[in-house]
Amino acid sequence: MTRRLSAIFFLITFLSIASFAQSTIPSPKSVLGFNPGDDRTVAGWSQITDYFERLDRASDRVLVQTLGQSTLKRPLIVAFISARENILALPKYKDIQQQLADPRKITQNVQRDRLLANGKVVVAISCSIHSTEIVASQMSMQLAYELATAQDADTREILQNTILMLIPSPNPDGIDIVANWYRKTLGTAYEGREPPELYHHYAGHDDNRDWFMLNLKETQLITRLLWHDWFPQIVYDVHQQGSNGSRFFIPPFYDPPNPNISPLLLRQVGLIGHKIAADLQAAGFQGVLTNALYDTWWHGGFRTAPYFHNSIGILSEAASARLMSPANVTTEQLARSSTRGMRNATESSTNFPDPWPAGQWRPRDIMSMEMTSARSILEMAAKFRVEYLRNFYELARKNIESAGPQAYLIPAGQARDEAVAKLIGSLIDQGVEVFRLDRELHTVLATPVLRRVNPVAEKLGNYRRLASVTASQMQEVPLGSYIIFLAQPQRTNILALFEPQIYPNRLTGQGEAERPYDVAGWTLPLQMGVEAPVVMAIREPANERKLTLLKDANEVRADLALPLKKGDESPIKNPLKQPVRVGIYKGATSNMDEGWTRYIFDTFNVPYSSVRDTDMRQGALNSKFDALIFTSQAATQIINGNAAGTLPAEYTGGITGGGVKNLKEFVNNGGMLICFDNACDMAIKEFNLPLKNTLEGVRSSEFYCPGSIVALDVDNKHPIASMLPPSVPAYFINSSAYTATADANVRVIARYAKDNLLLSGWLLGEDKLSGQVALAEVSVGKGRIVLFGFRPQHRGQAWATLPFIWNALSTAASNSSEE
Ligand SMILES: [Zn+2]
Repeated sequence: MTRRLSAIFFLITFLSIASFAQSTIPSPKSVLGFNPGDDRTVAGWSQITDYFERLDRASDRVLVQTLGQSTLKRPLIVAFISARENILALPKYKDIQQQLADPRKITQNVQRDRLLANGKVVVAISCSIHSTEIVASQMSMQLAYELATAQDADTREILQNTILMLIPSPNPDGIDIVANWYRKTLGTAYEGREPPELYHHYAGHDDNRDWFMLNLKETQLITRLLWHDWFPQIVYDVHQQGSNGSRFFIPPFYDPPNPNISPLLLRQVGLIGHKIAADLQAAGFQGVLTNALYDTWWHGGFRTAPYFHNSIGILSEAASARLMSPANVTTEQLARSSTRGMRNATESSTNFPDPWPAGQWRPRDIMSMEMTSARSILEMAAKFRVEYLRNFYELARKNIESAGPQAYLIPAGQARDEAVAKLIGSLIDQGVEVFRLDRELHTVLATPVLRRVNPVAEKLGNYRRLASVTASQMQEVPLGSYIIFLAQPQRTNILALFEPQIYPNRLTGQGEAERPYDVAGWTLPLQMGVEAPVVMAIREPANERKLTLLKDANEVRADLALPLKKGDESPIKNPLKQPVRVGIYKGATSNMDEGWTRYIFDTFNVPYSSVRDTDMRQGALNSKFDALIFTSQAATQIINGNAAGTLPAEYTGGITGGGVKNLKEFVNNGGMLICFDNACDMAIKEFNLPLKNTLEGVRSSEFYCPGSIVALDVDNKHPIASMLPPSVPAYFINSSAYTATADANVRVIARYAKDNLLLSGWLLGEDKLSGQVALAEVSVGKGRIVLFGFRPQHRGQAWATLPFIWNALSTAASNSSEE
């Protein structure tokens, strides 16, 4: 054949394959053998990825990309779904998104108008980040199939005007944990029960509490996709809630809103929520709830992170079935289901106009509502394409042009190098610009502190943020410091991470604290023990500054002479002064605090073994361990475990009385027992320690602190507080405080601060906490018990208090080596 003929032949073959492929796009059923959402069926991760691969090969509307590997090395994928011509031009659209996301790249109105005219609305839909909320992962295949095959005008409009990034699950490991468990228990007495293990290796349910810290591989990979590459205008995070309340929650959200979220975003979130609600109602679905329970205060979830990148974040929460088995819900259960914004699930109201009448609730019901909801969002995006692009651009532009403080500074010479590197690395990974000073700057700095507004209402802690008097004059900032300017598209993100939070004082009619949806305070530099004052003014004009934009955390690590990160290995050097045989208790009930503890130990390369109930019951613990850590968990859970009959026998029973006896022997023989927060109650009771939890049984009208940063007064002459400053921020999440009776065996290492106790968040009834014991060491026999009233490693974020753990373990080693 001539070259020209062969080209024509190729073209004909290509066209015929293309049209052949279009007609033979495999349905999920043809691949799986069942329709996604059928009762008592579940597709595991390899089935889901296999389906998407087939769809990618068969449809020119679908392109599947592997983002990387999950924590347990499964592929994490995203499917781009759009019209054929858009899929062929993805790099062009990615470039448009990157320009709109950063208006500094757009110098002329005509350039902006061209981008708005040519761009597509990018929508990300993420399914089943919480793996027991399994239906959406199954739904993803059906949604992709329908978009790949439909020929109707509405779908064509969606495909032309939007680019969907569909994430079948951001936690592939969890899909298999749940699918395997579900199959194993199907047809047994335990069918539909949740698995007794964490469905993310480290974080469990907290895998959706990581969107600003970026500890987990999954959040790192998706953050790169979303906030470095594609900048979606809309992110839809698909969840399930308990079985007995509303059938489906969608925004608008409940109060309070985070003050750093643009009002325009809150309105747009509400608009899409009401569009979904109207579409669900029109399709005959009942039990849809808005304006209730879920709020936008806290910063770290999949649907909240977008607000701080100028994007719209939508959450839906469908009522759960029993994994993939139907559930029966009674009128009585609905009537007992009450939450803020909903008196009960049988009473109609403006935000809940059509209660669902009880009955059988199936995975198919969940899936149908999620499909309708996804479709509503895509329709809105397609119909108002230019508005979504323009609003997105305008929010970024306003952030760049806002007046007020200039920057945050991370001064050189802090004795917390690893924390500084981690903090800056997390900022860069989420797309924040961080510069190094290559020449000194002269600045006016301030450090905000919280003060009570109304001294009369002592107990009711109303706080206000005051810029403190630390400095009001120009002072020189040394070169080697880092600076984060606020005039960048992520201004609101930087403010929300660096400012102290002041949660509004919200009480119920009965005077009890109204529980926020998640934590009340999280200020990142405080949690990490890194000094980060706000820069009010800079003397040098822009052309006299010498700054380097940082590319990644390794540049900071190089500056600070820390080992560089290579590949997936954590580069942090083991902080223990000598080898210690550490055991971390891992009971049969899943415990996120235990998972995060393993995360921190793995990240700091501190070796440990997980200690199971059988190990505790067997005893001879001194022959294996120098120190045992019990992470925050109730004493009854540790001792009794899961109740017999609730799960297969191998998952029931705790350490038992025998384990307690072995633990006493371990400490008496010279071992170190370390307890975090709730687990201290077990030690205090079983060892009869001379301490008392003063917050036990206190009503929330008297004291309430639901996830806040508080100051500790530290006795740094004690070896466990060695090298720490006299005041250390600690994470308090409905935690504990103690009074100690005078006893030579008790040494108090830290107390909750007497002055300026609340650093960030919400604290009701300060007097109940102020001055009480936060960290103590008690001698028992030849050994010691270390009691942390707070969570020194909370969510892998509280780096300020990690040195207490390393110091305690280092002294455990010296103890056993002396013997
Ligand atoms: Zn969830």
